[in-house]
Amino acid sequence: MLSIKTEYNIPRECFNDVIGLMKETNPAGNLIPSDLYRTKKLVSKLGLTATKIDCCINGCMLYYKDDAAEVTCHICNAPRFKQNSGKQRRPKKDVPYSRLFYLPIIPRLSDSYASMSSAGHMRWHKEKIKKMMFFLIHQMLKHENILIECILHFLLNPAT
Ligand SMILES: [Zn+2]
Repeated sequence: MLSIKTEYNIPRECFNDVIGLMKETNPAGNLIPSDLYRTKKLVSKLGLTATKIDCCINGCMLYYKDDAAEVTCHICNAPRFKQNSGKQRRPKKDVPYSRLFYLPIIPRLSDSYASMSSAGHMRWHKEKIKKMMFFLIHQMLKHENILIECILHFLLNPAT
């Protein structure tokens, strides 16, 4: 549900209405979260936290590691943050023009192996390759035996 929200840029209120409807229409006592806040809280327990990294609006660079404190792009000199209007009573938090969400691959892979439904898919390649190799070796030996029998037959009966 969260990936659909992100993919179609669904507003928070719409997400809350849809997931609220899902919760109401399912049998009482279901574990469906009632809103976006509770959904994100539930997902965060899975350990799939994203790292937010600011990036240049033109895609030139990331404000990451050594460049985390920079406020302008090294390549195109574009500003990192949007201008504050200055009308607010308290200073607003800096809002970057562009930001990416990085999901580290190791926790995602370990979660895929931990899940009973996806663990078989994760091992498929290794297990199938082994079975395929046995099948191919068996077929090669089988054909090799036929070939040897043909050669022996030809050598023993050159007239045929
Ligand atoms: Zn740039």
